[in-house]
Amino acid sequence: MVNCGVCSDCKEANTGYAWCNKCDPGRFKKEGITSGNDELDKLICERQQQTLHFYDNFEWITYDKFSEVETIGEGGFSIIYSGFLFWIIHERRN
Ligand SMILES: [Zn+2]
Repeated sequence: MVNCGVCSDCKEANTGYAWCNKCDPGRFKKEGITSGNDELDKLICERQQQTLHFYDNFEWITYDKFSEVETIGEGGFSIIYSGFLFWIIHERRN
């Protein structure tokens, strides 16, 4: 088994690289980085409970993290945008 360090919150072994499956799912809500939509936040939380490593994490990324945003499609009830994500990795506690 690979040593992935210790969770800074529960002090137990991380379940994967920089990830504690007990403490990290839903952390974004405690940090106030939500989508603003309860259903979407619930979906993100459920997906995070299946996450093994931080780099495989499913998370909400705010619009301001993208650059060169362009409309590439529109119809029905949606608008589809394209853009570059210049923010990929944020600092982890462990
Ligand atoms: Zn933990």
